[in-house]
Amino acid sequence: MAPALSYGPLFCDLDLDKPGRRIGEILLTHSDNIHCYGTIPIPITVIKGGDGPTVLLSGGNHGNEYEGQILLRRLINILESKDVNGRLIIMPSLNFPAVKDIQRVSPLDQGNLNRSFPGAPDQGPTKAIAGFITNHLLPIADYGLDLHSGGAHANFVNCGFLCACDDPVLHKKNIKLAEAFGAPYTVVSPLGNTADGYDPVAHTMGVPFLSCELGGNCGSSVETLDVGWRGILGFLVETGILNENHTLIQQIENRKHGTRYLMAKDHHANVMATHSGLMEPLVELGDVVSAGQPVAKIHSMHGALDIVQTAKSSHDGIIAIQRTGCLVETGNYVCSVYSEIKHDALISLVE
Ligand SMILES: [Zn+2]
Repeated sequence: MAPALSYGPLFCDLDLDKPGRRIGEILLTHSDNIHCYGTIPIPITVIKGGDGPTVLLSGGNHGNEYEGQILLRRLINILESKDVNGRLIIMPSLNFPAVKDIQRVSPLDQGNLNRSFPGAPDQGPTKAIAGFITNHLLPIADYGLDLHSGGAHANFVNCGFLCACDDPVLHKKNIKLAEAFGAPYTVVSPLGNTADGYDPVAHTMGVPFLSCELGGNCGSSVETLDVGWRGILGFLVETGILNENHTLIQQIENRKHGTRYLMAKDHHANVMATHSGLMEPLVELGDVVSAGQPVAKIHSMHGALDIVQTAKSSHDGIIAIQRTGCLVETGNYVCSVYSEIKHDALISLVE
């Protein structure tokens, strides 16, 4: 039996090495008014078959994002060790305290897990979870996929999410993963953005790694789940852990290939509210807009006749993210207008 893994307040005695499918927990010790003398179980599953790569899959990095949490449980229910050439390590609800609290960040320390990498053993539960992953899981991983959605205040076009990294060889591997995921769009995050995120730290450790954003608004839909499911299966085929002829892959006939890459041209890509009020959207996700085109009106909260702002796009592009909810405050984003970039430009981002 493999030795138990520990890191700061976290402990896991699930055997990650033995063949078979095992469902267990990483136990988080945390003492406050609610949790004294107890532990918080963070779910983890390992499915190990024959020889092959180790693939990390995760959802619930932000607690109020659900597609990944649902789809990874679906996968755990379907896959057995005989289906897998290698080892799948699946954490469907990564920041479990945040999941339980229906929040983006942890109620224990207000930690945003995706801004807590590479983590630390003694700076709160959220950094400890990040540190456990960095110290115990990323070193044994050959590939990683972290599934996100828009959460409470955003709806995304269904997209892969590709963080550029400064290693051109790894960057090209990540692009292949985005193409295998095959979402209608892939949003590209430029070099140096959110260095304390899961993806950049995985890249620093040489692990090909992709994220995605599927819908949002703290819910899910048949469409977003379908894009995510096809994406996960395409990703698993690309890594070699699941055979192209597996019955699961045959079930998703007409699997689409090809994705359109989108990127923020500059910080003006985010259209901002300059006044507080009631937002009236004038565009939909995925709409093509041009520079100067109105994308939302903001009405005064106090006067029925007052439009205090007509928010406009600063350039041509596609509505990639849209705010959910209608009440906005000064400084809130309204939507994001991203520009399409071609494959060659994507490659040259890091060369
Ligand atoms: Zn997220």
